[in-house]
Amino acid sequence: AKASGRKDCRFYNEELGAEYHKSGQLRLDLKSALKNDQLRLCYQPIISLSGQKIIAFEALLRWEHPTLGQIAPDEFIPLMEQADLINPIGKWVILEACRQASKWPDDIRISVNISAIQLKEKGFSSQILQALAAYQLKPGRLELEITETVLIDNVQEARKTLKNLQNMGVRIALDDFGTGYSSLSYLRSFAFNNIKIDQSFIRDAGSSEGTGSIIAAVIGLGKALNFDTVAEGVENAEQLEFLKSQGCDQVQGFFLSKPVAPDEIYNVIAELSGD
Ligand code: C2E
Ligand code: CA
Ligand code: CA
Ligand code: CA
Repeated sequence: AKASGRKDCRFYNEELGAEYHKSGQLRLDLKSALKNDQLRLCYQPIISLSGQKIIAFEALLRWEHPTLGQIAPDEFIPLMEQADLINPIGKWVILEACRQASKWPDDIRISVNISAIQLKEKGFSSQILQALAAYQLKPGRLELEITETVLIDNVQEARKTLKNLQNMGVRIALDDFGTGYSSLSYLRSFAFNNIKIDQSFIRDAGSSEGTGSIIAAVIGLGKALNFDTVAEGVENAEQLEFLKSQGCDQVQGFFLSKPVAPDEIYNVIAELSGD
């Protein structure tokens, strides 16, 4: 059932038919999802707190399954990785995100999630550069969001690829910061442009003094090490106020806007810009 309005682009059915999943049918369906035009990107704004303006949209993948309805990425991205589909689908995501972004005001960036497998693919950098060229986007309009798992194995190679892209002007963000095992060492070994503080921290910020202090410390680290901090999963005014008071650079979350379909982008820009 549609639990929420059409506009917000969330999934309509949260639980997958477990049997469907087990039977392997879902994996087969996923193989043809791209060809059958069942994949979509929706976009969630990232807002700068100093300028009170949208500085980026994050592209979030959606699968509109013909019988199961919209399936959550946490369900099908692991499937994509197991079924060797992450590279072709990931490539489509990059192209589609750049295509959409080329229609936006040029001070708004596009942020794309990249899985570890994609980064290991030969020719990943040129894939990125081709997408930018195809839609005449400046490299600085694109940000790649990676998680620590990207850096865990093959650190050297991953770092080289990312550094190479960054030297060409593409921005690199560390996603889900704080959820991995050795976050701090990654900050030392790579100059990320943005650090995205995981939403689990933002959720607890008000109720746990310790969590609030950790957020404040990460923001302080950002000032010292010269990266911007983005708070993910901001759901209420108290969290927003706390983040403002601590000098957090950017925020993202349902309190500001849910992810929206591409044709809603201009409405979101109109709503959130200005004052
Ligand atoms: P993520 O990169 O951490 O993306 C943020 C997730 O938090 C999104 O879930 C977004 O809808 C959700 N979110 C945003 N604001 C709030 C909030 O205020 N409260 C709560 N509770 N949630 C919020 P989504 O779209 O289900 O994506 C889940 C994950 O799937 C993403 O987490 C990302 O890791 C992965 N993903 C999504 N699209 C892609 C893609 O194109 N490629 C790859 N490799 N992974 C993707
Ligand atoms: Ca992300
Ligand atoms: Ca995240
Ligand atoms: Ca996540």
